[in-house]
Amino acid sequence: MPGKTAEVHDKLGYATAAELILHLPLRYEDETRLTPIRDLRPGLPALVEGEVAQCDVQYRPRRQLVVEVREQANADDALAPTLFFRLLHFYPSQQAQLKSGNRIRLFGEPRQGLHGLEMVHPRYRLVKPGTPLSETLTPVYPTVAGLSQAAIRKAIATTMQEADLGEALPAPLLKRLKLPGFEPSLRRLHSPPPDAAPAALELKTDPAWQRLKFDELLAQQLALKRYAQARHRLTARPLKDEQQLIERYLASLPFSATGAQQRAIEEILHDLTGRHPMNRLLQGDVGSGKTLVACVACLAAVGSGQQAAVMAPTEILAEQHHLKFREWLEPLGLKVVWLAAALKGATKREALAQIADGSAQVVVGTHALFQEGVEFHSLAIAVVDEQHRFGVAQRLALREKGKHKAAQPHLLMMSATPIPRSLAMSYLADLDVSVIDELPPGRTPITTKLITMARRDEVVERLRHYCADGAQAYWVCPLVEESQKLELKAALDTFEEMQAALPELKVGLVHGRMKADEKAAAMAAFKAGEIQLLVATTVIEVGVDVPNASLMVIDHAERMGLAQLHQLRGRVGRGSRESTCLLLYADALSDLAKQRLKIIRDSQDGFAIAREDLKLRGPGEFLGARQSGLPMLRFADLENDVELLEAARTAADELLKHDPATVQRHLARWLPQGAAFMLA
Ligand code: ADP
Ligand code: MG
Repeated sequence: MPGKTAEVHDKLGYATAAELILHLPLRYEDETRLTPIRDLRPGLPALVEGEVAQCDVQYRPRRQLVVEVREQANADDALAPTLFFRLLHFYPSQQAQLKSGNRIRLFGEPRQGLHGLEMVHPRYRLVKPGTPLSETLTPVYPTVAGLSQAAIRKAIATTMQEADLGEALPAPLLKRLKLPGFEPSLRRLHSPPPDAAPAALELKTDPAWQRLKFDELLAQQLALKRYAQARHRLTARPLKDEQQLIERYLASLPFSATGAQQRAIEEILHDLTGRHPMNRLLQGDVGSGKTLVACVACLAAVGSGQQAAVMAPTEILAEQHHLKFREWLEPLGLKVVWLAAALKGATKREALAQIADGSAQVVVGTHALFQEGVEFHSLAIAVVDEQHRFGVAQRLALREKGKHKAAQPHLLMMSATPIPRSLAMSYLADLDVSVIDELPPGRTPITTKLITMARRDEVVERLRHYCADGAQAYWVCPLVEESQKLELKAALDTFEEMQAALPELKVGLVHGRMKADEKAAAMAAFKAGEIQLLVATTVIEVGVDVPNASLMVIDHAERMGLAQLHQLRGRVGRGSRESTCLLLYADALSDLAKQRLKIIRDSQDGFAIAREDLKLRGPGEFLGARQSGLPMLRFADLENDVELLEAARTAADELLKHDPATVQRHLARWLPQGAAFMLA
């Protein structure tokens, strides 16, 4: 690989030629024809050629280079159409280059400026008269800082000459699906002919795009299905169909399981008596009672003389599970052990010893559970709460921990983030899914209101009266994505503000930077009713369960994602009191942002909200790809390409059955790094 091409590879993070040729344009620019200056329209990008009529540095008020371009610099006609362009950053060499009379070609988007149409920082170069135009549309690629479009174009062109562009898929399949060949599709996308419809290219409806999207989806389906096959060759220690402990547990609860919880329990217990490791996602909206189901799954392991582990993404949530499990299981004579990173010294040694000798029957904790030094005696099931918050690597590590003489632990993942069907089909092809689609009885509906920031003082007043009546409330502080420091500051400021404004109330504070035991103490005080108003950052988003809390104020709600707001709001509406959620939003809010908040106000259905969120934010949020850093689909889009996805699923089944060579070839092209990331 020549030096320049290798550099592009490195910068884009690719290891193989196959990856670079699949680095496809985001959009195109049309430099195949010139637009006369008089035909330019504001907002329509165009290629223009002309002569520099004038070029000088001006202060308007910032120092900038202003260049006047005419079709002919010395046209007598003072009314000859002119185009201005401005460079806000420029070098002396550029100023020298843009001498009056020099011929330039520039590409940019004209806008209405002070003195007529202008372009700001167009792409330009000096040309001789009659320089030929581009024969294809100019691709614009996704890039990273310090890597120019020209460098990417060049590297791709070079690689296209050397790489294997051979057809990997059988002709009958392509014919049936009416898809064009691989090589012509790729060439068309990297350098489309001038007559290609730009809209079809940009919206990815062009047949060439269809082909590449199909390929991508097919690769994903193949990898998932192959992993599923591999899993069915793995063995798990089957658990005894021992119901006594489970029955004692259920009988000890002050309520009975809902029908939906019972169904999920049956599905799980069925898996656990099988010979292969369970890989199941338990999905249920916020507050649907997933913890109870998880506990039953753990008891199936304990009842067979083995261990269960419950892992949660934050200490607050893990601690809540720990308390809940102790409350539930200690009366049954079982040992529940806590393990978190903060655990030190003798306490930690004791916990590790109990995990290793098997006396710890249920272990609850954070990701500390799969760190070095943790050895389970016989881990039969691992429960992962809020699974999308863990990276794939972490889930894998937990499974590795429990590996025992080729036997793998069963895995139960839980999520309150409902995953839309198309997404589930593509990412969860190897997961079985149980859904809790019913809330426990007696839930009170939550009234959600949108309130502008201008009325913040009224909201504080309302808190005063509310808490005077014995109710408890949360105040969720603004999210500051770009800085944890600022976020902490906002929380501390709010805490002080509330203490000052509401001296008669006991105000508490929890934030992500607090030590685990401080957090736990604050939560315990809130739960016990010793704190009436809890000022909190979004650390309380998942799992926190304080039924007496019935009012939640979310400050700067517009900064949060819809799924996140739904999760937060789910902290109230858990007790007998009627609950309210007040979303405070910034005064100058765009219509779009307001629309998003209205979705939350008008719906309490996690699925409906998730669908909207998927539309607005893309699928990354659902699966935690951001944390795990794994590639999501690059080209296909799960909302619009469901048909292609179905076709890919069918094709994957056929190929796996009848054509292993094609499977091999296709995966080598599309997933050259191996499909390890699918293995979670
Ligand atoms: P999530 O699915 O959000 O994790 P939890 O498991 O925390 O929900 O349950 C929410 C609340 O509902 C808890 O207080 C729990 O004790 C209660 N709960 C769970 N199942 C039932 C049930 N069948 N009947 C009544 N309350 C229930
Ligand atoms: Mg939960």
